[in-house]
Amino acid sequence: MSTSHKLFSEAERYIPGGVNSPVRAWRAVGGHPLFIQRGRGCWVIDADGKEYIDYVCSWGPLIAGHAHPQVVAALEEALKRGTSFGAPTAKEVELAKFIVENVPSIQKVRLTSSGTEATMTALRLARAYTGRTKIVKFAGCYHGHSDALLVRAGSGALTFSQPDSLGVPEAFASHTLVAEYNDLRSVEAYLKAEPVAAVIVEPVPGNMGVVLPEPGFLPALQTLTRAYGAVLICDEAMTGFRLARGGAQEIYGIEPDVTCLAKIVGGGLPLAAVGGRREIMDLLAPLGPVYQAGTLSGNPLAVTAGLETLKIACHPGGYERLQELGVLLADGLRAAMREVGIPGCVNQIGSMFTVFFGVEEVRNYAMATACDTRMFARYFQGMIERGIYLPPSQFESAFISLMHTEAEIAETVRAAKEVFRGLRS
Ligand code: PMP
Repeated sequence: MSTSHKLFSEAERYIPGGVNSPVRAWRAVGGHPLFIQRGRGCWVIDADGKEYIDYVCSWGPLIAGHAHPQVVAALEEALKRGTSFGAPTAKEVELAKFIVENVPSIQKVRLTSSGTEATMTALRLARAYTGRTKIVKFAGCYHGHSDALLVRAGSGALTFSQPDSLGVPEAFASHTLVAEYNDLRSVEAYLKAEPVAAVIVEPVPGNMGVVLPEPGFLPALQTLTRAYGAVLICDEAMTGFRLARGGAQEIYGIEPDVTCLAKIVGGGLPLAAVGGRREIMDLLAPLGPVYQAGTLSGNPLAVTAGLETLKIACHPGGYERLQELGVLLADGLRAAMREVGIPGCVNQIGSMFTVFFGVEEVRNYAMATACDTRMFARYFQGMIERGIYLPPSQFESAFISLMHTEAEIAETVRAAKEVFRGLRS
């Protein structure tokens, strides 16, 4: 029995499902999860000492790879000064300023400890600002696990306005209206029918696997929300500082009213952010009547890791490099699929990608859920055997870091081709 297997059996005795976040349990692909003892650059090393090329990157934060010397050195310095004060520190101002200077739609920003808190606060702000209650989200977009947003969140219940989780009152879920991604009419129908406080969107969804916005979709969404007086919330937890300094909103030329950031802004420590137009953000306590708080918000270690990671990510040429590597990998995987004769497609933008099986294209949730998840599970296991660590579910984005090189991409494509051959039988 491997050390990971032994550890997992023990974990199951003390932790529900053996994990502290469900997808880590590998239920969608079978088997038991790897326990990771160490990370280095774009590699992770499991409890038995086996090395893997890492495309999970802690689900997005590690754009600079594992244990980057610059991040580690800054953290060591910060650690010596103390772990938390619950009082303002200079570095959190520096991080807030960095965000405001790089994301033009953000005039002010509040730091939180998780993406869930950021989106929850964004909704509360939008409701306070508009005096309205209903919100519109898109099927397959995930915005954390708060009550209002666990509705068709990329898994579970498919029924209109049904919560995806037991324990979410129907009455809460009934305020959440679910539109189809890349389908403007489905949004406008709601906006026309009743007052809507906010439309929240992953501008480039990663939580149904990577799905790209069709040309004009996001700008039209902005026009629509403005016309109907709803707040546009871009949840860039994944895409913020991942696709560009200014996130997906920079690439697609939109200016949302409120933006949620997470993952990269915390550089692998628990930190996220909600920011936006000054008149909306100034509704937050202590300036305004919208309450939001956090014992560890703006934690000095998290702020330090975030700031150093952002400096590395925003180094000139960084995003061009990631796009280059992303295209190389996606093209390689597509060619391997074609050559071997495996039906499927690869969605990629910059350093985010997902391989879908059994479908020619994926443009929304319905198309994503039509793909062959059993084949994905076999692909995942084949890649693990060959030392490639991918997200253990079809409905996730894989991530490339600045530490990946052409050599790891070539190794990944070679392994994938072998696995694809096995999938034919
Ligand atoms: N929004 C998006 C787009 C996400 O991808 C995630 C997490 N994957 C969240 C919100 C929730 O963030 P957290 O897990 O930090 O609560």
